[in-house]
Amino acid sequence: MYQLEHIGIAVKDLEASNALFARLLGKAHFKIEEVATENVLTSFFQTGESKVELLEATSPDSPIAKFIEKRGEGIHHIAFEVADIYTEMQRLKSEGFQLLNDEPKRGADNKLVCFIHPKSANGVLVELCQEIKEARGEG
Ligand code: ZN
Repeated sequence: MYQLEHIGIAVKDLEASNALFARLLGKAHFKIEEVATENVLTSFFQTGESKVELLEATSPDSPIAKFIEKRGEGIHHIAFEVADIYTEMQRLKSEGFQLLNDEPKRGADNKLVCFIHPKSANGVLVELCQEIKEARGEG
């Protein structure tokens, strides 16, 4: 079963948007994290069991910069938490979905992530994510 994990929103100015969403949601973001491989700076707000992720480009060739250039600020992707991202990627491939990466990659918020091309999902960029469980000391 897919659980809505977060909604990603592309913003031009993370600091201004953090203030705006703090006013909107009545509470501040709980973390800011840079994902250097994607050239984005992200912040997260807890909204019940799900989150809002704000994304600001840190370079002009960031996917977020390109998105804003084309479509302006707004909802960029929706993310679902899955129990086993590898199994789900195989399942979606066999269902004919176009995945944007062949292997899960490390995303923000301690997750393995994979994206489904919007072309194969009614124009919506869909992220699958799975929490990375750090190796435990006790074996
Ligand atoms: Zn995301």
